[in-house]
Amino acid sequence: MASEKEAALAAAPSDSPTIFDKIINKEIPATVVYEDDKVLAFRDIAPQAPTHILIIPKNKDGLTGLSKAEERHTEILGCLLYTAKLVAKQEGLEDGFRIVINDGPQGCQSVYHIHVHLLGGRQMNWPPG
Ligand code: 5GP
Repeated sequence: MASEKEAALAAAPSDSPTIFDKIINKEIPATVVYEDDKVLAFRDIAPQAPTHILIIPKNKDGLTGLSKAEERHTEILGCLLYTAKLVAKQEGLEDGFRIVINDGPQGCQSVYHIHVHLLGGRQMNWPPG
């Protein structure tokens, strides 16, 4: 399997359906930990921490990445972060957690459907790699 960096460098922004659309449409399986009418949260297939969850909007509305955000996206952006907080509590991350949004090739984004990474369950370091 390609490294996350290789996958990010090979990926390209597109409005085409992504692997996350297949997860939303239940065409491929995922371990879903939270779902409502707007967002879906599921475990990352290649976890980088004991808890590693991806939080995505069900309708990305053109929001392939954070750099594409427009004013109409503020509600869904807030919803993603608030869901991250709910899921962190649900996962028992009382000692803290990290939120990551990768954007573009240098940001190591490999899936062009906006998503928030929720990482926890171990001590994080700074700066990130
Ligand atoms: P990005 O690098 O774009 O910020 O994050 C994409 C994430 O999606 C990566 O952490 C990667 O492991 C995860 N991912 C890619 N394909 C799948 C999949 O089919 N299922 C799940 N659960 N996660 C995936």
